[in-house]
Amino acid sequence: MNLTCCCCGAVAPAFEHWHNRDTGFGLCGDCATIIQSRPDADPDQFRRDYGARGIHWMPPVHPPTPLRALSAAPRTR
Ligand SMILES: [Zn+2]
Repeated sequence: MNLTCCCCGAVAPAFEHWHNRDTGFGLCGDCATIIQSRPDADPDQFRRDYGARGIHWMPPVHPPTPLRALSAAPRTR
């Protein structure tokens, strides 16, 4: 199903709706990444708020590449 992201309003695909979200709302992968990367992020609270990765919200299709991976990658030209 396609829910609406409760943070940014984008399409938030999910297999199931999480009971702790309003009907029709979920979390998009980009917002999940941002919320989980906050310094005060609490994985247990995140799960209570948004449900399980891959069920109630989907990780981003193209996750951001860490800067250190970019700097370590060989140049192609
Ligand atoms: Zn979002």
